[in-house]
Amino acid sequence: MPDFSLTTDADGVATLTWDVAGKSMNVMSAEGFSLLDTLIGQALADPAVKGIILTSAKKDFSGGMDLNIIARMKDGGAQGIFDGLMRIHGILRRIERAGMDPGTLRGGKPIVAALPGTALGIGLELPLACHRIIAADNPKARIGLPEITVGIFPGAGGTTRLVRKLGALAAAPFLLEGRQSDPRAAKAAGLIDEVVAPEALLSRARDWVLAATDADLVKPWDAKGYRMPGGTPYHPAGVMTFVGASAMVLGKTMGVYPAAKALLCAVYEGALVPFDTALRIEARWFTNVLLNPSSGAMIRSLFINKEALEKGAARPAQPDQSVRRLGVIGAGMMGAGIAYVAANAGIDVVLIDATQAAADRGRAHSEDLLDKGIRRGKVTPDRKAMVLGRITATTDHAALSDCDLVIEAVFEDPKVKAAVTARAGAAVGPDCILATNTSTLPVSGLAQASQRPEQFIGIHFFSPVDRMMLVEIIRGKATGERAVAKALDFVRQIRKTPILVNDARFFYANRCIIPYINEGIRMVAEGVRPALIENAARLVGMPLGPLQLVDETSIDLGVKIATATRAAMGDAYADRAVDEVLFAMADQGRLGKKANAGFYAYDAAGKREGLWPGLATRYPVTDPQPDLTEVQHRLLFAQVLEAVRALQDGVLTDIREGDVGAILGWGFAPWSGGPFSWLDITGAARAVEICDALAARHGPRFAAPALLRDLAAKGDTFYGRFAPAVRAA
Ligand code: NAD
Repeated sequence: MPDFSLTTDADGVATLTWDVAGKSMNVMSAEGFSLLDTLIGQALADPAVKGIILTSAKKDFSGGMDLNIIARMKDGGAQGIFDGLMRIHGILRRIERAGMDPGTLRGGKPIVAALPGTALGIGLELPLACHRIIAADNPKARIGLPEITVGIFPGAGGTTRLVRKLGALAAAPFLLEGRQSDPRAAKAAGLIDEVVAPEALLSRARDWVLAATDADLVKPWDAKGYRMPGGTPYHPAGVMTFVGASAMVLGKTMGVYPAAKALLCAVYEGALVPFDTALRIEARWFTNVLLNPSSGAMIRSLFINKEALEKGAARPAQPDQSVRRLGVIGAGMMGAGIAYVAANAGIDVVLIDATQAAADRGRAHSEDLLDKGIRRGKVTPDRKAMVLGRITATTDHAALSDCDLVIEAVFEDPKVKAAVTARAGAAVGPDCILATNTSTLPVSGLAQASQRPEQFIGIHFFSPVDRMMLVEIIRGKATGERAVAKALDFVRQIRKTPILVNDARFFYANRCIIPYINEGIRMVAEGVRPALIENAARLVGMPLGPLQLVDETSIDLGVKIATATRAAMGDAYADRAVDEVLFAMADQGRLGKKANAGFYAYDAAGKREGLWPGLATRYPVTDPQPDLTEVQHRLLFAQVLEAVRALQDGVLTDIREGDVGAILGWGFAPWSGGPFSWLDITGAARAVEICDALAARHGPRFAAPALLRDLAAKGDTFYGRFAPAVRAA
C-alpha cells in the first residue's frame, strides 16, 4: 500500500489522501516524499483536475517526519544533508507555485490542506506550503512545530514560511518553544486559516478549491511589495524584535542548545533576502545543527528511546496488567499527587490516610488542580466532576479489597512503612500488587513486611507528581515479573515515562542527584564563590544550580538523608565536609525555600532574591577562584560517574533508561542527550583524562570507573557497546 493515493471526482477536484499502511499516525518517509511529488505533478499536469485537496484517511493528519530519514541524510555528510533538504524545499515549492506562470503568477491550481486532527512538524510544514489550511474542529488535535524540543528546528521550510506569515515575534513561541495548539487556538494565532465542523471538512475544502481565484494562490511573500509582519532586522520595529529575541534565547538556553541559536540565525539572515534564498539559508543552518552531536543525542534520548521505554521496551512478557482500581495509602504531598494522575487517567482510586481529614485534604489536592485547569480553559466542570468522582477518600482499609494495585506513600520511616504494608497486605485480594513510593529505603527490605514479596515493587514518583514525567520502577530481590508488568502498565496508563532499575541505595536518579548537590555544597565549604557554582551549572545546561536545587528540595531532607547514609556506611562515608555546611544551615533554621531562607535569600512572598550574603561570612571566598571549566567538570562528573557506576553495578541495565531518566528525572543537561550520551560526545579517553586530573586535585570520588577506562582503552563508546539494550546481560 503506497503512502498517498489520488482520486479525482467528476467536478475535477482531486483528493490526495495520506494513509501510511500499518501505522496509526502518518509519518513522512523519503519514499512518501517522492510519491507525493509524483502525484502532485500528475494532478497539476492533468487538464481534468481543477484543484487538489490534501488530506488524511486517519483521524490525524501527521505526527511529523520519520526521524530515520534524518539519520540517513546524515550518512551523506554535510553535502548529503544539504542536498536532501533542497530536494524537500523543491517539492514543497512546487506545491506552493502549483503550476502557475512564474512571471504573471497566474494559471496555478489551488491546493488546500484539510486536517482532520493533529498536524505536527512536517505535518504542518507541508500544509504551510499549500494555499489554504482548513482544520476540523477537534479539540484533541495538536497543531505545531515541536522540532526544537528534540534538538532540531523546522527545516522543511516551516521556519522561513511561518516567520514570513506571522512575523518573527508571533512565530517565536511556535518555533522557539515548540508550542502546540488546538485548531481554534491555531486559527487565532494565524497558524491555520479556517476551522470547521469535522463532518464538513472535506466539503468545505472542496468548495474552497472550486471557488479559488488566481489571487488566492499567491503567497504574500511571492507577491510584489511583500513586507514581513513586524519588520525585518533593519526595520525600526524589527530591530527591537531581533535584539530582544537573541537576548531571550540566550537567557533561556545559556547558549548550550545549538538548534535555538541556528534557528535564530536562519530567521535573521533569511529575513534579509528573497524567499528562495532564505530557504537555502534555512537548509544550511539545518545542516549545521544536524552535524552537531547534540541534535543526534537529543533525538535519540528525547524521541526514539523515550518512546521505546513508554511502549514497554523493558516489559516482561505477561498478560495485560492495566490497573482498574488503585489504592493509595498516605494522602500527603506524594500520595495526593499519585491519586490525581491516576484518576485523571480514568482509574478508580481509594485514597487512605490515618484520619478522614487528612484523606479529604489529599482529595482536595485534585480539586485544586482541576480548578486550576478550569481557570485555564483546559478542564470542563463535567470533567472535574468525573475525575473527582473516581477518588474515594477514606480511613477504611476494607475499601482496598478490590484494588489490583496499592501504592503506599506514608512517612519515610521503615517501621511505619512495614506496619502499613502488612496491614494493606491483609486487606487486599491474593492477586493485588503492593508498591512503595519510598525514595531512599531499600525495596527488598520493605518487601519483607509484605506477605508476598514477589508481588512487591518500588514505584518511585518525583515531585510534583502531576508535572514530573519520570517514574522509576525498582525491582526488589524477590520482585516477580507480574509485579514489574503491573508497574509498567500503570505508568503507561498515566502517560509517564518509566525506567526499570534494580534495588540499591538511592536507586538511580537520587543516586546521581545527591553527588551533584553535594559537590556544589563542598565547593561552598572550600571557598568557591557560590555565584560561580550556580552559574557554572546553568551555563552547562543544568536547569537549577546545586544550591538552588537543595533549597527547593529542602535542607532538612538533605540532613535526614545524610544522617541515614552516614549511619549505614560508617567509615566509608566521605561527605563530612558537605554535612558541616548542611547541618550548620539547618541549625540556623535556613531550611530552604519552604523556610524562606536557605543558600538563597527570599523575600516575604517567597521570591528568590539572590544568594544569601551570610554564606560569604562563614565560608570566605578564596583567591584565586577555580576557572569555570573546572567547576563545570566537578559538577558534571559528580553525576555522570555515578551513572556509570550504576551501570557497572547492574542497578541500571539499559543505558537508554540512564539517559532518558536523567533528563526527565533531574533535568540533566538535555542538550547532551543524558550522561552516557554526554560521555560519548566527550569521548571516553578524554573523560578518563579529566577524571584523573580531578581525582588528583579533589579526591578518589572522581576516579574513573573500570568500565569507563575499558571503553577508553578499546576506543569504544557507551552506545557502541551497549545500545540498543543490555537488559539480557
Ligand atoms: P507527607 O508527609 O506529605 O505525607 C505522608 C502522609 O502519610 C501523611 O498525610 C500522613 O498522615 C500519612 N500517613 C502516615 N502514616 C500513615 C499510616 N499509618 N496510615 C495512613 N497514612 C499515614 O510525605 P510525602 O512527601 O508525600 O512522602 C511520602 C513518601 O513518598 C515518602 O516515602 C517519601 O520518601 C516519598 N517520596 C517523597 C518525595 C518528595 O519529594 N516529597 C519524592 C519521592 C518520594
